[in-house]
Amino acid sequence: MSYEQVEVPADGERITADAETGELDVPSNPIIPIIHGDGIGTDVGPAAQKVLDAAAEATGRSISWMRLYAGESARERYDENLPDDTVEAIREFRVAIKGPLTTPVGSGFRSLNVALRKKLDLYANVRPTYHLDGVPSPVTSPEKMDMVNFRENTEDVYAGIEWEAGTDEVEKVREFIEEEMGFDETIHDGPVGIGIKPISEFGTKRLVRRAIDYAIEDGRDSVTLVHKGNIMKFTEAAFRDWGYEVATEEYGDEVITEDELWEEYDGDAPDGVVVIKDRIADNMLQQLLTRTEQYDVLAMPNLNGDYLSDAAGAQIGGLGIAPGANLGDGRVLAEPVHGSAPKYAGEDKVNPTAMILSGRIMLEQLGWDDAADLVRDAVEETISAGTVTYDLHRQIEGGTKLATSEYADAVVETIHDLS
Ligand code: NAD
Repeated sequence: MSYEQVEVPADGERITADAETGELDVPSNPIIPIIHGDGIGTDVGPAAQKVLDAAAEATGRSISWMRLYAGESARERYDENLPDDTVEAIREFRVAIKGPLTTPVGSGFRSLNVALRKKLDLYANVRPTYHLDGVPSPVTSPEKMDMVNFRENTEDVYAGIEWEAGTDEVEKVREFIEEEMGFDETIHDGPVGIGIKPISEFGTKRLVRRAIDYAIEDGRDSVTLVHKGNIMKFTEAAFRDWGYEVATEEYGDEVITEDELWEEYDGDAPDGVVVIKDRIADNMLQQLLTRTEQYDVLAMPNLNGDYLSDAAGAQIGGLGIAPGANLGDGRVLAEPVHGSAPKYAGEDKVNPTAMILSGRIMLEQLGWDDAADLVRDAVEETISAGTVTYDLHRQIEGGTKLATSEYADAVVETIHDLS
């Protein structure tokens, strides 16, 4: 593959993947594409790069970074938001990391983040939510939270099938719904916007499969399907039913349902078995706070996953901390949960932890667990020592306020001390 405006680093090797299983084959000096992103992406991107380099080196490896462009940086170079170079390089090199990209509300272009996930079929958005010592939290026992949220990325209301009030298209859809489908008393008269919420067996099963695989590999106790099936029977309840189907039909005695847990095991699951349960989304939002420790891996359609993973993120320290990644078959794009926070752009001020810990997920996906653990431990030790960026500094007593780049240097220093 040749690229218009980006260079493939000469000193690294390609990551490849098994055509059947998608399992990655990772050299010790992989080429990894990186998009710094818009706004504070220019601060947190280089900071994370520094830390990931240090963790790779400390464990006898190296990363050959390949800079890619999207959003503002792409408009400057290519005069477009998401050039083919960027999409094709992530496709070819398989594992990449990105900072945030700005999406204007209402008008303008659609989200570049959503476009990237769709083009690369990154169907699972994964957000590990765990507490690091020393990080201030609004709840009294943040350490009770250790969850991994799997949010479906390609369908539900995020599929983007909607029509604007007042257009010919929306009136056509209204007519079809009222006259052909018989919902003649349901939509109010006058201007209306209409959206469609597709949830498919294929989309649900591959997401739930991914969550169960993760739970088994990581020795987790349960996978909870979070849905609003009491109201939306053919979409959200279907998600629940297909989720149970994939669990019971494909995983044999590696899983049991919550009903079986009580009927056959009196509430005490056999060792190593993953319990599959389901919760209604609004109840789940309460349980995040009231019964935090009972939840482990969550699998959700897109919108539930959006709300739930932000709420869970708040309990462990908020946007400056919360990491994420988008996974497809044999493809990984790590990215922090936060956006481009334009008012802090270029000030060397914000917290790069979320981007650094997104890099940690990326390292785990490479199979570099020792490097991934080193990143986590170094971040935790740095924060516990009270050396933090402004967002955490204003919430703790004492401590030292560092710039983004200084904080990254402190984490690198700690990596050297720990290794
Ligand atoms: P945001 O996450 O950019 O910022 C909201 C607030 O959170 C900031 O003002 C800041 O106080 C705090 N914050 C965020 N990141 C922080 C960090 N690393 N350290 C310290 N504080 C931090 O959310 P927004 O203002 O709703 O969105 C801004 C833009 O980002 C929008 O265009 C939105 O579409 C986009 N966005 C992109 C992504 C992505 O790229 N995946 C995700 C969310 C939002």
